[in-house]
Amino acid sequence: MNREPLIFEISSPTKKGFALPHLDVPENKDALSGLPLRDEIRGFPQVSEIEVVRHFTRLSQANFCIDTTFYPLGSCTMKYNPKVNEKIAALPSFQDGHPQSPPELVQGNLEILKTLEDLLSEITGMDAMTLQPSAGAQGELLGMLLIRAGHEDRGHPRRIVLIPDSAHGTNPSSAHICGYSVQEIKSNERGTIDLASLRQAMTEEVAALMVTNPNTLGVFEDAILEITEIVHAKGGFVYMDGANMNALVGKFRPGDMGIDVIHLNLHKTFSTPHGGGGPGSGPVGVKTHLEPYLPVPIINRSPSGFTLDHDRPKSIGRVRSFFGNFLVVLKALAYIQSLGASGLKEVAEIAVLNANYIRKSLEGVYHLKYDSPTLHECVFSDKLQKERGIQNIDIAKRLIDYGLHPPTMSFPLIVPGALMIEPTETESRRDLDQFIEAMKAIAREAIEKPEILKSAPHVSYVRRLDETSAARRPVLRWGGEPSE
Ligand SMILES: *Cc1c(COP(=O)(O)O)cnc(C)c1O
Repeated sequence: MNREPLIFEISSPTKKGFALPHLDVPENKDALSGLPLRDEIRGFPQVSEIEVVRHFTRLSQANFCIDTTFYPLGSCTMKYNPKVNEKIAALPSFQDGHPQSPPELVQGNLEILKTLEDLLSEITGMDAMTLQPSAGAQGELLGMLLIRAGHEDRGHPRRIVLIPDSAHGTNPSSAHICGYSVQEIKSNERGTIDLASLRQAMTEEVAALMVTNPNTLGVFEDAILEITEIVHAKGGFVYMDGANMNALVGKFRPGDMGIDVIHLNLHKTFSTPHGGGGPGSGPVGVKTHLEPYLPVPIINRSPSGFTLDHDRPKSIGRVRSFFGNFLVVLKALAYIQSLGASGLKEVAEIAVLNANYIRKSLEGVYHLKYDSPTLHECVFSDKLQKERGIQNIDIAKRLIDYGLHPPTMSFPLIVPGALMIEPTETESRRDLDQFIEAMKAIAREAIEKPEILKSAPHVSYVRRLDETSAARRPVLRWGGEPSE
């Protein structure tokens, strides 16, 4: 594929997308007076209509997207999100709402927020929810702030947060930003938390354990009851990273297993497409004992309507302006209500079935460091191919030639050369088989013609990038020099 020039580069003077016929009546300049019109915009590209259409269509085809192919990026839950939810969020009555409207004029919107809070509390088994955080990582930070507030109220904030070695990188950074030192807990041979290590690490200086369940290997922490008991016995809280809730919706309630705080990713599990950098939403749920610290305002439901409560002396304050990303919340509500309880349960069941189908189909073709049945995702590695000098990046880049998006690479850190695959419930058997066949073909190529993997991708818009130089010496201006 050739490099698509910038629209400015194909510009040539006097070209126009559309030209009006010559006036055959007197020009009336007054009709346009007062409108913000300019005679000329400096440097504005001059191109024909078909050049504009082709330019942007070609650019759009240079992207992978869920509308064209399977997108197995593990830990990200890149599933297909029903378009009807986008339509609902685009309704003018929602889009044009002003966040500073007085509560009495936006009772319907407040009802939407409160209803989603209640539904997410029900789904997770928590007692209260806030929809303020804009992302998972912000939810984590809020969760840690709530935990700190809880400990401070009891007289001592404590110093340490325990995090398993399989955790997402945002977990240690959230704990750290909140002023805690992070202590790593080793995983056992099954990829789950090693109870002996946890017992040993759990002291009265530990504020919390951050646990991801199912963890980033896709493995369910089946000792979760014992885990929460060990932490609670020493007065600590258990935080659950609920970004992987797609595997659990309708099947398992973290709140029933001793979880004190949880965040969810609406932009993974609940119908907001992501990957382009937002907007997202990372609601946080708590048990009653942490409720007083939730951000203000709290939405209250009363017989006379919905009101905002700012008078919460123990609140940690605000973490986000207004009510969070309202349209993302709206999509989540539409999604949950359209599926209903039984539909949500089916989401988790099919997501787990699809992941295990891939795991079984590629078993022996790619190495599995942790070989237990998984929930929503499975983590292979490049160990078998490495003997021939082929690494996970070569496999990932070659998948692009097969028209497929690569899986997540090199995460979790406890699997060297990881290829983490999350198919989600929205993929058909046909699409899964296509992916499996491509992965098998690549494994054969690794033996028969490894050079083709080493130089992949061959059909994409950009070829293999020099990622080190891209990170170390980025070119930040078109036609500019690399920066140091
Ligand atoms: C995606 C993810 C996060 C972070 O969520 P963001 O919305 O990207 O900040 C945290 N933990 C896990 C396990 C995740 O997959």
